[in-house]
Amino acid sequence: MAIAVPTSEQTSRYTSQPRQLLIDGEMVDAADGGTFETIDPGTGQVLTTAAHGKAEDVDRAVKAARRALDGPWKTMTPSERGRVIHKLGDLIAENLDELAEIDSLDNGKAKTVAAAADVPLAADLFWYMAGWATKLKGSTVRPSLPYIPGGEFHAYTVKEPVGVVAQIIPWNFPLLMAAWKVGPALATGCTIVLKPAEQTPLSAIRLGELALEAGIPPGVLNVITGYGDAGAALAEHPDVDKVAFTGSTEVGKLIAQAAGRTNLKRVSLELGGKSPNIVLDDADVAAAIAGSAQGIFFNQGEVCTAASRLYIHQNLFDEVVEGVSRAAEAIKVGHGLDPDTEMGPLVSSEQFDRVTNYLKVGPEQGARATTGGAAIDGPGYFVQPTVFVDATNDQRIIQEEIFGPVVAAMPFADVDDLAAKANDSVYGLAAGIWTKDLSKAHKLAARIKAGTVHINTYHIYDAALPFGGYKQSGWGREMGEEVLSAYQETKSVVVQL
Ligand code: NAP
Ligand code: MG
Repeated sequence: MAIAVPTSEQTSRYTSQPRQLLIDGEMVDAADGGTFETIDPGTGQVLTTAAHGKAEDVDRAVKAARRALDGPWKTMTPSERGRVIHKLGDLIAENLDELAEIDSLDNGKAKTVAAAADVPLAADLFWYMAGWATKLKGSTVRPSLPYIPGGEFHAYTVKEPVGVVAQIIPWNFPLLMAAWKVGPALATGCTIVLKPAEQTPLSAIRLGELALEAGIPPGVLNVITGYGDAGAALAEHPDVDKVAFTGSTEVGKLIAQAAGRTNLKRVSLELGGKSPNIVLDDADVAAAIAGSAQGIFFNQGEVCTAASRLYIHQNLFDEVVEGVSRAAEAIKVGHGLDPDTEMGPLVSSEQFDRVTNYLKVGPEQGARATTGGAAIDGPGYFVQPTVFVDATNDQRIIQEEIFGPVVAAMPFADVDDLAAKANDSVYGLAAGIWTKDLSKAHKLAARIKAGTVHINTYHIYDAALPFGGYKQSGWGREMGEEVLSAYQETKSVVVQL
């Protein structure tokens, strides 16, 4: 199957001109003038260049963020801060089409998906976080102090911004992952150096421009595009107070080590997953099939919560596998800008090599593809949506994160045995349960070690719902009220009366 490519005039102005770094409110070149190319993975062609930020640029951005922390950002009232964050959400919504096109071209994802999911969710994240700016508060405490008989004290706690935060975000939802990180940092009064993934630098720079337009002071949000060294320079930087990272568990561990080696900066990590999706014998079969297909194939399977391990009760196994396989075959794979496209290419040639390697490893270890199992002829980095059977928990396709449109189905008979298998993973990010018996659903949800459990649905994310992982899926939670503590220090103030 050959893939149709769009005409070049569809390329927006933000994806065809060289992009610079955003430091202290100014667009600037990298100190050494370096650039790197970003490609359209749907064609394999270069879109444009971005500045190649390195340690010196990181340092300039950290200094700008430090100055901004004690500048006008500090003196803005919570209400004023909330309003500019809200305005940023408005500007994202107003520029929805353009932002969806930028991420579609840079990442490969269907523009229709970006316009329906990534961009509206990003706007909503800022609207939600804007509300928190005026609601951050400490508490008053009455200490007992048995060693100071008769002492009278007044004590209270104050929440303060953790300070300058580095945020390193992945390529799978470029704008949305930026929003998840930037929103709570702004709401709590922190300042930011944002480092987008090298594969998808463009929407983060546009977000930085929109933040300035919204009235967020220069230096509060700096954007350093780079690859190979910018991330490590941030993780090692002695004047960064916190680093927040989303990406692979491997790099997450490097970041935690860098923090330990340097200034013990705070670290929050949102890492990989290998999420179990469980179809019980009383499930609504049609809903389970549709939801399981969406759970793995949404966003080319490049989702940390992808429902990549499909456990199906033996009574329904053949029917569900058949249904998910037919759903896979019905997916329209194409260039992200084609309005009929449901699934785009993988993000890069590296990701293509990774995923197609797993398509070989699966059969080598005994699995069999009921559909898919191969790449699609280019240009572009397309692979077939794939369903494996004859899979077992010891196979690499069950234990390792593939990060592509590849699901492996396994039958089960006994729920105790199933719960053990579902938890037999170094990851613990998400899970799905399909059943008409909500009592069974809640009991099973309690046994699954995962940060999000979906019941009779999948891929539900909301600004108000905490998101994150057990085990090696990460440290801390994003979104909801819970994320705010990741961007704040608590100060206890004690007064002797
Ligand atoms: P990755 O290796 O996890 O992350 C790359 C990012 O980490 C880049 O921004 C890079 O910046 C930075 N980085 C690299 N080394 C660093 C270090 N020592 N300290 C600080 N930052 C560092 O992502 P990938 O290579 O693109 O993807 C590999 C796999 O990660 C995927 O196949 C998938 O399994 C997983 N992944 C998970 C998610 C998720 O949402 N959880 C998202 C994307 C990918 P510099 O190059 O500038 O240093
Ligand atoms: Mg790109």
